[in-house]
Amino acid sequence: MKDIYLDCNATTSVLPAAVTAASAAMAQGYGNPSSTHATGLQAKAMMDGVRKLARRLLGTGEGRLMFNSGATEGIQTAVLSALCALRERRDAGQRIGSLLLYGATEHKAVPESLAHWNRLLGLNLTLRQLPVDTDGRHDLGALGELIGDTAMLCTMAANNETGVISDLTSIAQLLHQRGADAYWMVDCVQALGKLQLNLAATRIDYAPFSGHKLYAPKGIGMLYVRAGAPFTPLMMGGGQETGQRSGTENMAGIAALGAVLAALGDGTTFRSHAELAQFRTRLAASLEQALPGIVFNMPFDLSLPTTLNFSVPGLSSKELLDLFDAAGVRVSSGSACSASKALPSYVLEAMQVPQWRASSAIRLSFGPLSDEAMIATACERIERCGEALRSSCLLPSALAPLAALRDGVTELSVDGRTAWLLTDAASASCVVIDPLAALVPRIASFIRCQDYRLRAIVQTATSQEGDAARQALAAALDITQLDAFDAQDRLAFGVGLRRVACGDAAAYVLGRDFAFVGALAPQAAIAACGDAVHPDTVLCASRDDGSVCTTVRAAQHEVTTGAPQLDAAGLAAFLRTHAHAMVIDVREAYEHAACATNVFDGCAVHSVPLSRLASEVAGWLQEPQRALVFVCRSGNRSARAAACLHRLGHQAAWQLNGGLAMATLATRPSLAFAA
Ligand code: PLP
Repeated sequence: MKDIYLDCNATTSVLPAAVTAASAAMAQGYGNPSSTHATGLQAKAMMDGVRKLARRLLGTGEGRLMFNSGATEGIQTAVLSALCALRERRDAGQRIGSLLLYGATEHKAVPESLAHWNRLLGLNLTLRQLPVDTDGRHDLGALGELIGDTAMLCTMAANNETGVISDLTSIAQLLHQRGADAYWMVDCVQALGKLQLNLAATRIDYAPFSGHKLYAPKGIGMLYVRAGAPFTPLMMGGGQETGQRSGTENMAGIAALGAVLAALGDGTTFRSHAELAQFRTRLAASLEQALPGIVFNMPFDLSLPTTLNFSVPGLSSKELLDLFDAAGVRVSSGSACSASKALPSYVLEAMQVPQWRASSAIRLSFGPLSDEAMIATACERIERCGEALRSSCLLPSALAPLAALRDGVTELSVDGRTAWLLTDAASASCVVIDPLAALVPRIASFIRCQDYRLRAIVQTATSQEGDAARQALAAALDITQLDAFDAQDRLAFGVGLRRVACGDAAAYVLGRDFAFVGALAPQAAIAACGDAVHPDTVLCASRDDGSVCTTVRAAQHEVTTGAPQLDAAGLAAFLRTHAHAMVIDVREAYEHAACATNVFDGCAVHSVPLSRLASEVAGWLQEPQRALVFVCRSGNRSARAAACLHRLGHQAAWQLNGGLAMATLATRPSLAFAA
């Protein structure tokens, strides 16, 4: 299955013509442009040619245009230049503003550089965020108030998370009207190839660019500096780039960038704004069809046509990422994910987007090289993702639910806390233990979609929050008399769910196989349960500390050993020498439904989603000699599963390091060294 790469705001592939140009620069035109012999002169001619092209396309006029390693370097150089000039002016007794003002949605390279050089140069100016409005555009009212006291202003041309295009014309007008003498940097990284630029005709002092956001390789960038704007080199040495940026030039990168700029100039290689906008409309329509309730986090009419940022009620960015990745669609999470909690996107927070959207956003971005066929396949796969969610009962659906989900114990986690769902196919009924408000829509959707009868909602400890979640779940399922309903059914689930009191809290024991112990310490729960549990009873907690579950025996003889790891190259050999090994894919059911292919050719792979691991551990513990190899998308979930089995005493549990991503990489030998 070919990747559909929709993460171009992070980086792009390299234009084939750029690969050719870089190869030629390395194979034939390898000269040092500072050398005075013919090989050097030829290299210099190539570099001068690329600079000329860049100057024309960016409209740099008399300004400086230097090659560097990318936008982070360009930003440093711009900030250093402006701040050195400010220090000189202040030392000479001139008045300078007291603020270093930057847009609240800037790339982190901007505030971090401002803070760094402000500190190093001992300027002690005040860093201040310029707020944005709910469309993500700079608050011009606030800018008007602050600009008189601003020493340096940093705004971006277009945002990398949302694609929102800044109103640079109004900002420039404001600077002009107020006679502001602030130095102005505009981060043009996401604008290159997508917005018309004529830099010398503007008031912009500094504009950094990065090659790898537009089909050039990583490690090559450019910085524009307006004629007359202060400049201080960041790197001193051999005086390359006419002393502006020392260090022998990245000639392969410059050649590749030249090929990209030539493509940009030819007017035919890259798609027009209108064509890209049409692609975005098609992608948005497929997303809307696949993901009911989807909310887009950017105004379409004010954004680059190549970026979509969205959130889906009830689905975390991690789940959506896993799902898209399984379908071979590479998108990125708009919000950083820590171990158990999704950190909200500061860009969306600055736009005052509700918290749930800022924490669960997905960014989908394509580039001006995208074509019809790629967009059509992307739409098809996105729609398949929607079907996968429906068949997994994560979205309301008329599709037949996957049989694998009908019976057993399922862990549902959010923000480090866990609810448990017990499903019994024979009686078509279920019980919910310790519901959480954030999971109510998901649980309700699951129960409806399975057409199960909810027999009880129980809590291992009473709390206002838990009570509210219970009431909300009952309401979502049209259950009116929650108390009567509970009293009648509490003990009646399947083989019997027994409540065992432990102080103010309780454990719920299902048969003798599972004990749901809530927040109780395992030892306390075991003592309270007495004969109701045996050494192999699986203990399931309401806190998701990454350990999935434990057993009575393991809780009593705590052992912590790391599970051994296999790399993709070693897996085949391992499977040859372990004939009865079981490969267990712990990705969730919706990921399987989104992806038809098995990357382990010729090897049966068992699907046991991590959320269903507790259901299966007892069976695996019966066969302690049998090798178990856990796999998942990136290696995190399989590491948790293998570590859990080890902790429970199964010494033959392994995990595939790096996950399926590395297994695919191993089939591409030229890249395998990267693993
Ligand atoms: N500015 C913006 C808006 C970006 O998107 C990025 C890259 O993510 C950067 C700056 C940093 O660019 P580079 O990777 O070239 O250092």
